[in-house]
Amino acid sequence: MHDFSSFKLSDTHAHISFPQFDEDRQTLLDQLKDRRLSLIIEVGISVEDSLRAFDMLKDTEDLYFAAGVHPHESDSLDREGVKKLEGLLHEISVVAVGEIGLDFFRDLSPRKKQLEVFEMQLEIAERLEKPVIVHIRDAYEEAFGILRDYTGPKGVIHAFSSDIETARRFLDLGFSLGIGGPVTYKKNDELREVVRWSPIDSLLCETDCPYLPPVPFRGKRNQPLYIGYVIEEIANQKSLDSVSCSNTLHDNAVRLFSLDL
Ligand SMILES: [Zn+2]
Repeated sequence: MHDFSSFKLSDTHAHISFPQFDEDRQTLLDQLKDRRLSLIIEVGISVEDSLRAFDMLKDTEDLYFAAGVHPHESDSLDREGVKKLEGLLHEISVVAVGEIGLDFFRDLSPRKKQLEVFEMQLEIAERLEKPVIVHIRDAYEEAFGILRDYTGPKGVIHAFSSDIETARRFLDLGFSLGIGGPVTYKKNDELREVVRWSPIDSLLCETDCPYLPPVPFRGKRNQPLYIGYVIEEIANQKSLDSVSCSNTLHDNAVRLFSLDL
């Protein structure tokens, strides 16, 4: 692994509570304590998952939460779940609603239900004044149509993977773009172009661990420290010094999620 000890390593999208981290979770969390990592945002994918993650990790310093229902899980959300979700979102360390959105690639929940649950959670975010973490796959047009009319606190289009024109439309709405491991993939010139084009203040770095590991860890489990490779690539594309780029990306996260570090 490269030496990232002078970087500020912020991971704005992680799933540390997943079983893939059962073996070494504490070791990973200790990296926050010894300052190898600057912050982590742990993102929920369902009401149960959000509650479980919060219970498991709530005493970890510099770790914050997003709570929400992923489009894959939309179908299982009921009234009771909505109540529990809102309760959790009142916690001070739960800084965002997410991940929410539309996934018309895998279609694991009916599209109608995905749209309904996405819009309902946007209403909650607006009412509670929390930014949103948005997952979009094969539904950029549909998601844009919804977010265009959304007047609550903006947030991030997580794991952004489209072209400059699409990026421009979301940035114009006030959203940031979440950039992770895919920016290091050989075939992903399109995403590198987006990174070069976007103002640095509109970018967030994220791992989505245990998924989407950067080069040279493809096929392995991703983890928060690997965010260093993502930051290096962003800095490289924007011809910035890596350390100052890592500071800027950290500051972007603190600002967007109003973190009290
Ligand atoms: Zn995720």
